[in-house]
Amino acid sequence: MAARIGSANEMLRAVPSVDSLLRSETGKRLEPIVGVERLTSYARKVTDELRQEIIPGAPGREGQILSRDALLNEAERRLAAAYQTEATSGLRRVINATGVVLHTNLGRAPLSDAARRAIQEAAAYCNLEYDLAVGDRGRRGVRAEQLAADLSGAEAALIVNNCAAAALLVLMVFARDGETIVSRGELVEIGGDFRVPDVMAQSGTRMIEVGTTNRTRLSDYARALSDRTRLLMRVHTSNYRIVGFTRTPATRELANLAHEHHLILYEDAGSGALIDFTPIGITGEPIIRNSIAEGADVVSFSGDKLLGGPQAGFLVGSSAVIERMRRHPLYRALRADKLRLAAIEATLDAYARERTTSEIPTLRTLGLTADDIKRRAEQFIERVKLRTRNSVQLEITKGISAVGGGAGPTSDLPTALISVTQPRQSANEVEARLRLATPPVISRIENNRVLLDLRTVSESEETELEDLLVSLFAE
Ligand SMILES: *Cc1c(COP(=O)(O)O)cnc(C)c1O
Repeated sequence: MAARIGSANEMLRAVPSVDSLLRSETGKRLEPIVGVERLTSYARKVTDELRQEIIPGAPGREGQILSRDALLNEAERRLAAAYQTEATSGLRRVINATGVVLHTNLGRAPLSDAARRAIQEAAAYCNLEYDLAVGDRGRRGVRAEQLAADLSGAEAALIVNNCAAAALLVLMVFARDGETIVSRGELVEIGGDFRVPDVMAQSGTRMIEVGTTNRTRLSDYARALSDRTRLLMRVHTSNYRIVGFTRTPATRELANLAHEHHLILYEDAGSGALIDFTPIGITGEPIIRNSIAEGADVVSFSGDKLLGGPQAGFLVGSSAVIERMRRHPLYRALRADKLRLAAIEATLDAYARERTTSEIPTLRTLGLTADDIKRRAEQFIERVKLRTRNSVQLEITKGISAVGGGAGPTSDLPTALISVTQPRQSANEVEARLRLATPPVISRIENNRVLLDLRTVSESEETELEDLLVSLFAE
């Protein structure tokens, strides 16, 4: 044991040096994991921090006397914690037990097994822009584009980083320095950072609003036409619905008006639907194929919303319109990378084979009924109860899952929730323990109870969740 140290000055001298902290057991253990330079900078921060706290009058430490050994122990503890904090702030897989299928904070759509394998494969060298048949340069994304065009009945397709990028590209290429006409009922904000008026302003087009919030007629668009008009734009109000006394022209009417004036009709479908989702209870999403058939010249939609693929923005439409965007320098900055394209090919291939509900996790998940989930929840509770001898209280309660991701705001998804209660822990404590577990489990709290929704938990995750509950709450 080191001698007790008297004054703050003596204690300051007893703070371990950066060197001795690096040579400590914790320092030596972390060095290969963290790297010398990064560890040195953590060690410097920790020793500086300790000195700050010891300086006489510094808050929190008054009168506390620590030995040299105790100071080294404390420094080692903080060194390990500093690394831990950094490591856990990185991307990690989590179990989404919130029941929000397209949870924007949790990465929206989880990918299909085929899409995950495709990403792994493309992570090596791959024929991204190489035509294997002729042994020469090829075009990026040919197959993904072909699938997107075929599935939407369009002549051509182009794939960019996300749907916001797609909208920006359309507006920049076709409407910059001119006017774009849009209905007042469609000036939506999506997820707080995509606002139609802002995207218009960014792209340099002047927004001409027509109609009212709930009613816009074809004649409203017609009256706003001028020789400065470049584009008619229609935006799907993804995350909200106007109901009651409403009116908007049909896509075909708008397309005819645009074409009579040699203009382009652009529809931002947001999530959109490559197939009809009404059988799984999702209503009100524009079917991309219909928009194209009714005359829209270009339609954009997201890859990671209802489509169930990776983050991406799709543009489908006529060859002339798509090719103009492909040749624009902005496309080079917004185009998709090989990993994304690989995942898109695999995802769209499931659509082409008509295997969506069995292979694409979001669609499989959306299709589950409350009874399906209740059955799973009952068996889950049985298993956990057996293993914990009832030391955690689990009960089934009725509730609602959400589509999320700014889609299907009025689609109700009835579910069976598992409420988790612990006699000696508050709901906030239980929620935090689940969230800080490995893997982290994200739940929700309602009426002072933690609720788990198995709708968004896959079967393999269900086993992990079971083990976790047992280890966290068994006595
Ligand atoms: C979600 C959405 C966007 C933005 O899509 P991202 O892929 O997230 O960039 C744009 N427009 C509409 C109508 C949307 O619903």
